[in-house]
Amino acid sequence: MPMFTRRAFGAGLLAAPAITTLSAGATLAAAHATPKAAPAMFDAPLGAYRITALFDGMAGLAKGFFSGPDQGEIDAALAAGGITGDALPAPVTAFLLQSDDRTILIDAGMGAVDILGPGFGRTFDALAALGITTDDVDTIIVTHAHPDHIGGMIGGDGAIFANAEVIISEVEFGFWGDAGMMAQAPEEAQGLFQIAQTMYASYADRVRPVADGTEVAPGITMQLVPGHTPGHAALSIDGGDQQLMMIADTIHNSVLHLALPDTRFGFDVDSAQAAASRRALLDQISADKMLVAGSHLPFPGFGRVVTSGDAYAYVPASWM
Ligand SMILES: [Zn+2]
Repeated sequence: MPMFTRRAFGAGLLAAPAITTLSAGATLAAAHATPKAAPAMFDAPLGAYRITALFDGMAGLAKGFFSGPDQGEIDAALAAGGITGDALPAPVTAFLLQSDDRTILIDAGMGAVDILGPGFGRTFDALAALGITTDDVDTIIVTHAHPDHIGGMIGGDGAIFANAEVIISEVEFGFWGDAGMMAQAPEEAQGLFQIAQTMYASYADRVRPVADGTEVAPGITMQLVPGHTPGHAALSIDGGDQQLMMIADTIHNSVLHLALPDTRFGFDVDSAQAAASRRALLDQISADKMLVAGSHLPFPGFGRVVTSGDAYAYVPASWM
């Protein structure tokens, strides 16, 4: 059972998120284009697919959201990774998978939801630069229903992606849609439920909740990594000679969460479960020598994980 504490949802930060009344992806792109900022993306072959990292925006996560039994250890780990300020850099990255007959988005960025400040929604700039319209996207695989992953799916008129089927774990779908769960949640979390429910209503019968282990598209299998949210999911992608695990929010900081994997994060619904899931997934990825892609890894978010004693280390990919 998730533990609802004020801390669990980042007390205060999430009060009254605003969804603006913009109505189309193109308008969103215009509204969010940072002056003089070119679209940022990076692509590489992956079996039958081409995978492209789409930069949505950059958040600074307050150091106070990360906690553990020994704060000195956390400070030392961050300092060793060159992070000395009060905010930990957290890029928000969505991923595009294209094959001969499929155009799949993995998450859609923050869009017009205003929680972490300005400068988000650049996923749309990147899609436009690739010549892809929101109508071209046939599938959106949602790793979890937090606003930096689904905000880009919704606008004033409802669904931004007119033709996309939306795939989400059935656990995640049920949790954020549960009125009883919402009633128990603290004030600060109400906006998260509202955003998830707005997305559900916007896509209605185009939402397909799936069980853990489902192959959600050719060669793409959902694997639950619960804790950050109850149905938070990774995606294992068969790239032929390269296997990739899209780990979503298993790692919020590539220095801290690998050096000290049990570090709690303020936006986790259940931090202890998230830590256990993190260790299990990192063990699997490092043992199988998989490529990883992550929503909040240093852009473009591709790398590998190696073990280091009782902990791990992140090595940015050099395979392209
Ligand atoms: Zn996230």
